[in-house]
Amino acid sequence: MVRTRFAPSPTGYLHLGGARTALFSWAFARHHQGIFILRVEDTDLERSTPENTQVILDAMKWLNLDYDEGPFYQMQRMDRYREVIGQMLEAGTAYYCYASREELDAMREQQQARGEKPRYDRRWRDSQATPPAGVSPVVRFKNPLDGAVVIDDLVKGRIVVNNSELDDLIIARSDGTPTYNFCVVVDDWDMQITHVIRGDDHINNTPRQINILRALGAPLPQYAHLSMILGPDGEKLSKRHGSVSVLDYEEAGFLPEAMLNYLARLGWAKGDEELFDMQQFINMFDLAGVSKSAARFDPEKLAWVSAHHLKQADLQRLAELVKPFMLRDGCDPAPMSGQAPDLPAVIELLRERVKTIEELADAAVYFYRPLEPDAALLAQHVPAGILPVMAEMLAAFEALEWTREAIHDAMKSTVAAHGLKLPKVAMPLRILITGESQTPSVDAVLALIGKEEVLRRLGGQLARLV
Ligand code: GLU
Repeated sequence: MVRTRFAPSPTGYLHLGGARTALFSWAFARHHQGIFILRVEDTDLERSTPENTQVILDAMKWLNLDYDEGPFYQMQRMDRYREVIGQMLEAGTAYYCYASREELDAMREQQQARGEKPRYDRRWRDSQATPPAGVSPVVRFKNPLDGAVVIDDLVKGRIVVNNSELDDLIIARSDGTPTYNFCVVVDDWDMQITHVIRGDDHINNTPRQINILRALGAPLPQYAHLSMILGPDGEKLSKRHGSVSVLDYEEAGFLPEAMLNYLARLGWAKGDEELFDMQQFINMFDLAGVSKSAARFDPEKLAWVSAHHLKQADLQRLAELVKPFMLRDGCDPAPMSGQAPDLPAVIELLRERVKTIEELADAAVYFYRPLEPDAALLAQHVPAGILPVMAEMLAAFEALEWTREAIHDAMKSTVAAHGLKLPKVAMPLRILITGESQTPSVDAVLALIGKEEVLRRLGGQLARLV
């Protein structure tokens, strides 16, 4: 049974790289009908906050990355880590080290003076000396002295690290608290993780973690280290490149499925597949398709993927999502009185031309509230000569049974009567009624705005202009 985990440290928002790691771990578990676990690595007390933890949980929820077990919190597992440290001391796979800061500093200086790489010289590893009084020792892991750790990373391929490169890692500080690498090991063991899928910034930890797992007699998981996500300029992705927090994209009006689709393709590929839903992704996902090299974040591609998913999404759902964006702009799509245009129908008309829910909200405003056309637009498209034709249109509209077809026919006959081309009439109508020069087909727009409101707006504008 495949068991994977996502193990964020709540030291900041959940950034795009973290979300992609979560997505790949989740998809791998789902593809193999396995178990996906959420584990919050909150042992860095200075930088971990409940707010950051909440942001991670919120982001997982928004993205629909559901977990089968957890969230587990490392701070709630301290007794277990201490227990394992006790067992290792007893088994002789770990030992107390009483070296003081001053001694270690002196040791390092001497090593450097000899041109050696500074590292703990294992002075307490097999020492029979009497421990100095009044010193609280740290606990160090007895790393094997020779041989090598061979990692067949499922993304990066074979990595070999000689044990002579690794020193005896501190697994418990002098106050007894376990260190980061140790907690990860105990957790991966206890949670029976079969596949550790994580960022390649952890690749240096892997040989140390493997050695500790071996010393514990624990089965080894397989490892898959994911390459970084770079900004469009090839530099490490950071705030300079815009939003890096996943939830900022919710704020900006991206659908979660669009975000996931885009993240899925950041450093993973299967043939030419670009646009897919999560079930399709789960079916396709494999670690063989994960790229060894860093991926580049491309906001334009994200917008393209987003536009695609907006066209696929359920209209009622989009209506619910777009409402808060409209209200934020001071536009109420469901006023208490009066006949308001049907929001799902408005969305259906507009969604061909937008990339985010925010753009959808902006585009929908004129359906609910007239916008004042600006003078330049009026000057360009609404010459005085067309105003009598507009007045005729108003009269024709008054008599209409209000359907898109009827509106279209009324425009056509007016156009024919004056020997004009359709745009000569459609454009001024559009501008006078919506205040915009770019809208979907004007007959469809007017049909949705409603007869009463169209008459009111057009009449008002003509009264002003004539
Ligand atoms: N907590 C680590 C991080 O947020 C991940 C550790 C791991 O996946 O092993 O980078």
